[in-house]
Amino acid sequence: MIAVLKHGTTPDQTQHLIDWLKRMNLDVHVSEGQEITILGLIGDTSRVDMELLKSLEIVETVKRVSEPFKQANRKFHPKDTIIEVGNVRIGGGYFAVIAGPCSVESEEQIIEVATAVKESGAEILRGGAFKPRTSPYAFQGMKGEGIKLLLKAKKATGLPIITELMNINDLDLFADVDIIQIGARNMQNFDLLKEIGKSKTPVLLKRGLANTFQELLMSAEYIMSEGNENVILCERGIRTFETYTRNTLDLSAVPALHELSHLPVVIDPSHATGKIKLIPSMAVAATAAGADGIMVEVHNNPACALCDGAQSLTPAQFDDLNRRIRRVREAIL
Ligand code: PEP
Ligand code: MN
Repeated sequence: MIAVLKHGTTPDQTQHLIDWLKRMNLDVHVSEGQEITILGLIGDTSRVDMELLKSLEIVETVKRVSEPFKQANRKFHPKDTIIEVGNVRIGGGYFAVIAGPCSVESEEQIIEVATAVKESGAEILRGGAFKPRTSPYAFQGMKGEGIKLLLKAKKATGLPIITELMNINDLDLFADVDIIQIGARNMQNFDLLKEIGKSKTPVLLKRGLANTFQELLMSAEYIMSEGNENVILCERGIRTFETYTRNTLDLSAVPALHELSHLPVVIDPSHATGKIKLIPSMAVAATAAGADGIMVEVHNNPACALCDGAQSLTPAQFDDLNRRIRRVREAIL
């Protein structure tokens, strides 16, 4: 990090600032020019409050020259991270298709969808048991019962399962879950992130509706700094002025996050577009862009789905999509 001091700063004022920075365990490299003085801050600057530094009377500008995320940073970990769940691998050239309904609704429903998506080639089964709904009157999920049904579907098909955790108090129910999903709305629930950081269960961390890549990576850092390095990043669309789609899929997340981080990047075209017709194209585009996987909502009867029917593919549509994805994978390998 560098701090440029204002013209006219006295040597006393400069020294005062240097002493203050040194008390934060930083080394300070001073470069004095004719007009201005530049301080180079060396050491762990992740704890420096940039805004506070900027607000000081004698400071002109402050610039970070290294990112505040360390463990998630590609610079410190050049090799791609590969996450293993059962026999499935994600990242570093391994691609995984995650599919299943938005919500677990009944034993019959989840087993039927799980069997169908497996047959089409999905490697991981998704299904929400705890649902973050905009309306308190909407279906809130089957909760603990839903997790039990997911485990039954896992037993019946052999597919590892992913489901969303919303509240730390429910963590015990997730003991046999293969991947814990942290939804867009909880991306900055820092207590929740710290808590799952203490487990070793892989985490799929979704980008918030209005969060930057850096904020997403700082949230990954919260999990990793507690000891859990098994983090998968997920782009699920961000909020823009466009209303035709549910969100706007930011596909640049794939190359951008790959450049910044070694963690796998998965694209969720279902929540990104909200429209069945748009999902296959976006899933194929994500595959071509080099994503490490996709997560798609599939329902055996979308018209009767308790949640997100309008963006749920039928098993037949999913089967067709999976064929296209396989062809793209072959073409880009
Ligand atoms: C989901 O995947 O079920 C979900 C609620 O997604 P998001 O957090 O991206 O809205
Ligand atoms: Mn959904």
